[in-house]
Amino acid sequence: MHDVLIAGGGPVGLFLAGELALSGCSVLVLERDQEPGSPLQALPLGMRGLSAGSAEAFYRRGLLEAIVTASGADENEIGADPEAIEAPDPRGVSHFAGIGLDAANIDTSALPFRLPSPAMEGFVTNLEAVSAVLTKWAADLGVEIVRGVPVTAVTQDDESVVAMAGGQEYRARWLVGCDGGRSTVRELAGFDFVGTDPLFTGYIAHVTFADPQQLSVGFTLTPTGMYLRTPFEGHLGMMDFDGGAYDRSKPLTREHLQTVLRHISGTDVKLTEVHLASSFTDRAMQATTYRKGRVLLAGDAAHIHSPLGGRGLNLGIGDAVNLGWKLAATVHGHAPEGLLDTYTSERHPVGASVLDWSRAQVATMKPGPNAPALRQLVHDLMNTADGTTHTYRTTSGLFDRYDLGNEHPLVGRTAPDFRFEDGTRLGDLLRGGQGVALDFSSDRALQVTAKGWAGRIRYAAGQVRNDLGFRALLIRPDGIVAWVDDAAPDRDGFARAATHWFGRPAQ
Ligand SMILES: Cc1cc2nc3c(=O)[nH]c(=O)nc-3n(C[C@H](O)[C@H](O)[C@H](O)COP(=O)(O)OP(=O)(O)OC[C@H]3O[C@@H](n4cnc5c(N)ncnc54)[C@H](O)[C@@H]3O)c2cc1C
Repeated sequence: MHDVLIAGGGPVGLFLAGELALSGCSVLVLERDQEPGSPLQALPLGMRGLSAGSAEAFYRRGLLEAIVTASGADENEIGADPEAIEAPDPRGVSHFAGIGLDAANIDTSALPFRLPSPAMEGFVTNLEAVSAVLTKWAADLGVEIVRGVPVTAVTQDDESVVAMAGGQEYRARWLVGCDGGRSTVRELAGFDFVGTDPLFTGYIAHVTFADPQQLSVGFTLTPTGMYLRTPFEGHLGMMDFDGGAYDRSKPLTREHLQTVLRHISGTDVKLTEVHLASSFTDRAMQATTYRKGRVLLAGDAAHIHSPLGGRGLNLGIGDAVNLGWKLAATVHGHAPEGLLDTYTSERHPVGASVLDWSRAQVATMKPGPNAPALRQLVHDLMNTADGTTHTYRTTSGLFDRYDLGNEHPLVGRTAPDFRFEDGTRLGDLLRGGQGVALDFSSDRALQVTAKGWAGRIRYAAGQVRNDLGFRALLIRPDGIVAWVDDAAPDRDGFARAATHWFGRPAQ
């Protein structure tokens, strides 16, 4: 019997599988598709924007460089050479509803606790590259992946969970549904999935135009919808505000895509060929809880929304990094009471706010007589220093804060990438998937106390290049600050926080 079954070997399932294996769990991934690398994962349709928060999660597991390289992104821009990163000024900020924003408007004084890190920026990648790197990582860590076996039935009792897949029964102590937006696990395990109905049908396609000069490059809003031409030749996106009425089970034809594009663009542009196409909507739904007994959800299985602003994959990566160590501690029997339920209490609000961000964009783009006025107002507000800074804070993934019941403004946030004088960074210390106790005191005040959690917490002491005024910190395996001390290291405070997140110390 495995410790954990994961239904779905998409990017979130693979990342979670690696996280669990890194923490010593036996993991089996059951994937519906027989072959990896569907054409929808390759460029141009598989193009995805990764936020700085996702880059940071990959950096902390030693995966950033491999993903940047596989994506063909510019390593110098992302910071493959950590020593070269000194100026933490954001270089890019996501759009809002197609309204472009200038990173120069970001007020960096409003971005607390930043330190230079190889993962300061997001970058453009593709699903093929991310999946290839994560598959190798997971396999190297001992994860088994079985392909061509869709999960079709799920039952659970107090001890275990059984998934039926490809005509065979698989039993484990836990099951995580990472099987995407139309999750079978979500349905079979009886999760409630609630939210709002769509206003539009969206299309993404790789086409050949007879007369591309009829269309602008970038986001173009029209009185009937929006179309997007990216710099990638023939890469086309469209939003048709049909109330989500298009029957998406039908094959997408050249004629249909051309009719929609002509309707939206108000041109008689001609599509001579459609190489690949797919549709989506802005249906925004979220599971009301991410856990039912021994079954959990992560990624699109837990939440769906429109791809506007490119946040779904980033959200799923955040789920995986939050859930992995908590589920592993539960499997190993040292999780403190209630730890696993903090997965829902921490991640559900983040998901809800991403859904709202997506809804707000749709509302701003919806055609109508008052739309241009609303859009102009949003444009003007977004392009102020406060508006751009707010957008950056909201979308970069570096400034979310979990409510951990501690008022210190750093607790609950991702930790700055502290660097010791010998060059070791916090990101290096997190690679093994343990928590980290950082002790910047000259007398190594926490060393003896931290031994009680050896194997769960990695103790690191030394002279730090930039301590930001802290004397000691406890960082969770997901890189979130659990406890800080800005006076003399307080052993009792550390022990309480360590017990709270990592369970009782060894005797
Ligand atoms: C056009 C478009 C653009 C996007 N752009 C961005 C972007 O720029 N940035 C961003 O962050 N997000 C973006 N997203 C969203 C992002 O692609 C998804 O959020 C992300 O792929 C979800 O990953 P996942 O692993 O949860 O699910 P999926 O990628 O859907 O993977 C689910 C896996 O489960 C498998 N599966 C399904 N059913 C079963 C079953 N019954 N049993 C076993 N396996 C099963 C599937 O074969 C698949 O491999 C975009 C989405 C679209 C449509």
